Amino acid sequence: MKVLVAVKRVIDYNVKIRVKPDHSDVDLSNVKMAMNPFCEIAVEEAVRLKEAGTASEVVAVSIGPKAAQEQLRSALALGADRAIHVQTDERVESLGAARALAKVVEEEQPDLMILGKQAIDSDNNQTGQMLAALTGRPQGTFASAIKVEGDSLEVIREIDGGLQTVSLKLPAIVTTDLRLNEPRYAKLPDIMKAKKKPLETRTPEELGVEVASRLKLVSVEPPAERQGGVTVGSVDELVDKLKNEAKVIT
Ligand code: AMP
Repeated sequence: MKVLVAVKRVIDYNVKIRVKPDHSDVDLSNVKMAMNPFCEIAVEEAVRLKEAGTASEVVAVSIGPKAAQEQLRSALALGADRAIHVQTDERVESLGAARALAKVVEEEQPDLMILGKQAIDSDNNQTGQMLAALTGRPQGTFASAIKVEGDSLEVIREIDGGLQTVSLKLPAIVTTDLRLNEPRYAKLPDIMKAKKKPLETRTPEELGVEVASRLKLVSVEPPAERQGGVTVGSVDELVDKLKNEAKVIT
């Protein structure tokens, strides 16, 4: 069983986001970048399938600038066997990424493709669903548990108010939710070994896909600064402020 994992390079989730002075975008200069947290969960799940003897090969794929190879090397250090980098300097949105991934799926014919449910930079939550549509494969989104059963995959999905279990015929697409697993940290020897694992570079042109974004980013606004708090002297004063200043109660 071959498993493909999609890995996106995003701003590290610990970084306090700064907006460019002209509000044209988020400022990425000298900012720590990392693997999207939901993609880390995807890599972990694929590696666990391999360790359990269910998967025979794990291939990590990323679409993005040359620097995205850092995240592919991280995936290799965590246990992926090889990596494919679709190199582009375009601002890639979900549809572009899904189109490139669909081409890689066509070439590689994986039995299972695992993506994050959402990239924390664009918050789109679309790529897995688009990839399922483009490839005609069944999808199990927001997975909190998966189990391979012969030529099917059982997926437990986190939905509003509970859990839903679905059975998908392989080959299939899965997107990861937070509770699917707890990703491991890469060990130093594995980081060293990852440097020697195969990493193939492709271009969108070679794959015959258009990845450029079809929307224009108009402006980015930071969240409003929080006002300083005040200490109130009594419950009556608090109720008065909530009623007459904040106007959140009547
Ligand atoms: P999104 O739909 O854009 O929120 O992203 C959901 C998931 O799709 C991510 O967690 C990745 O697994 C995958 N994905 C999106 N964009 C890319 C990309 N440029 N390269 C690789 N994987 C991607």
